[in-house]
Amino acid sequence: MYSNSHYNPSTIDLTSLYKNTTTTYWDAANDADVPACAFFPASSKDVSTAIVALAKEPGVPFALKAGGHNWNRGFSSTDGGVLISFRPNLQNITLASDGQTAQVGPGAGWVEVMQKLDKSNKCAVGGRSGDVGVGGYVLQGGISYLTAQYGFASDNVVEYELVTANATILTVNNHTNPDVFWALRGGGNAFGVVTSYTLKAYDINQVWGGERTYGPDQLDKINSALTNFISGSQDPLAAIILDYVFVAENQTNQITVAYFYHGPTPSSVFETFMSIPYLADTTRTQRYPELLDTQVTSALGLRTSNVFNSLPNMPSTNMTSYLDWHWKQASDATLLSSRQAYGIELLSMALQPIPVALQRASGAHGAGALSLDPNNGDKLWIEYDVGWTKDAGDDILPQQLKSIADDALAYQKETYAGVNPTSYVSGDLSVVPYNPLFMNDAQYTQPVLRSYGQEAYNKLWSLHKRLDPQGFLTSRQNGFFF
Ligand SMILES: Cc1cc2nc3c(=O)[nH]c(=O)nc-3n(C[C@H](O)[C@H](O)[C@H](O)COP(=O)(O)OP(=O)(O)OC[C@H]3O[C@@H](n4cnc5c(N)ncnc54)[C@H](O)[C@@H]3O)c2cc1C
Repeated sequence: MYSNSHYNPSTIDLTSLYKNTTTTYWDAANDADVPACAFFPASSKDVSTAIVALAKEPGVPFALKAGGHNWNRGFSSTDGGVLISFRPNLQNITLASDGQTAQVGPGAGWVEVMQKLDKSNKCAVGGRSGDVGVGGYVLQGGISYLTAQYGFASDNVVEYELVTANATILTVNNHTNPDVFWALRGGGNAFGVVTSYTLKAYDINQVWGGERTYGPDQLDKINSALTNFISGSQDPLAAIILDYVFVAENQTNQITVAYFYHGPTPSSVFETFMSIPYLADTTRTQRYPELLDTQVTSALGLRTSNVFNSLPNMPSTNMTSYLDWHWKQASDATLLSSRQAYGIELLSMALQPIPVALQRASGAHGAGALSLDPNNGDKLWIEYDVGWTKDAGDDILPQQLKSIADDALAYQKETYAGVNPTSYVSGDLSVVPYNPLFMNDAQYTQPVLRSYGQEAYNKLWSLHKRLDPQGFLTSRQNGFFF
C-alpha cells in the first residue's frame, strides 16, 4: 500500500521500496520478518485509516517503523502483520519562521534534521548517531550531546500530533491534553501513533568534538577522569559518552571516548581526559551535523541485544575500583566463550554520565513521565550491547548479556552498601540510584514503566486504559508496556 498524493504508484518501484523498508534494521534479525503488507502513510489521516482497517481484523499484528534502530527484535518489525513505515513519506522537517521550533516527521533521521536546521544556525536536542529515527528516539526519552544543557529530547517537544487507538487525531500539547503530553514524554508507544513532533530549536554554530581511542592500559586513568567529570560537572556545554569495547571486528578491548563541546573550543572541563595518551583522535572544530555524520550507521549487519543499568556515581576511589572490576567482569564473561559458536562480533558497554546538573536541566525543560530527581545524586548510565551473526545465539545471548548487567548491579549493591552517590541529598538508597531505566537503551525484559515509580506508573496505566480500553496498541505490537 502506498499513500501519498505526491507519488504516483505506477511510477514507484514498490517492490524495491518494500524490500528496502523490510531489510534496513539496526538488528539484522528483523530482516527475516516478512510483513503481510507495508503501508507508507503521508499524513495523520492515513494513519487513522490504517488503524480503522486494523481494528476490523482483530488477529492481525502490526509494527511502527521510524528509523528502525531499536535493538530489540520485533519492536519495529512484524512477521505476517502490517508494517507501518514512516519512511519515506513522513520525513518532513520544517523550521518555523520565528526559528523557535521545528516540525519534524517521525521518519526523519537525526543527521538530516540537523543538516536542515544548521543552515539557519539552529539545532534540536536529538540523536548522536545520524540515522537513528526521530520517531522512536523522542518517544523513549532521547539523550543527546545537548542534554546537559537542555534536558532529554522528550523534554523539548512542544507539541505532538497523535493518532489514538480509536483512530482519533489529537493535537497534544501542555494546554490541549496535558496528561497525554506528560505521558508521551518518555512513555513510548502505548498511547498512540505520533505523526508529527514540534521540537524546540536552539542556536548553534561551530562545535568541538570527535572521538579519541585508548588502549586498555589507560583504563584506570579513564575511569578516574570519568567519575570526576560526573561529580564535578559544572559546564553544561560539555558532554561525553564512553564505549568500552571488548569485541569488535579486527580489534579487542579498547576504550573510545566521544567528546562534545557546544562551542568552537572546549573549556578546561576535559583537561584530565586530554592528558591521557591515546591511540587515535578525530576531535576538531566543525559544524554539528558533521560531527553526527561521522557516526552515521543505518544497519549494523548483526543480530543484536542491549540491556540497561542505572548506577550511582560513587566517590572517586570507590567508583574507579568498581569500574575496573566491571571491565574485567565483562571482558571475562561466559558469553565470550561461545564467540565462535554464535559468531559474536560485538560486545561493548556505553557509559553515559548523568550528573545532577543534567537532571536539573531536564526538570527545567519540563520533564514528563521520564523524570529524574537531582536530590538522588549523580548517576552513571550503562548500556550493554552484544551483536552476533548466527541465529543459534538468538535465545541465549540476550540472556547472557542480561546476566552481565545483573551481576554488575548485584556486586555494586553488595560491595558498596552504605556508600552515598556523589551530590546525594535524599531518597531511598536501595531504589533511587537504580531507577529510572532508560527506555531507549533497555532490553525488552526490563520493566521500564514500573521504574518510573508507582505514582507515574499508575498515572500511565489509567491514561492508557482511558485512551485504549481494548489494549489495541499493547496487544498487537511490541514495546515497553505495563
Ligand atoms: C547506532 C545507535 C545509536 C544510538 N544513539 C542513541 C543516542 O545517542 N541517544 C539515545 O537516547 N538513544 C540512542 N540510541 C537508541 C535509539 O534511540 C532507540 O533504539 C530508538 O528506539 C530508535 O528510534 P527509531 O525511530 O530509529 O526506532 P524504531 O526501531 O523505528 O522504533 C522504536 C520504537 O518506537 C516506536 N515508534 C517509532 N515511531 C513511532 C511513532 N511515530 N509513534 C509511536 N511509536 C513509534 C516503535 O513502535 C518501536 O517500539 C541509539 C541506537 C543505535 C542503534
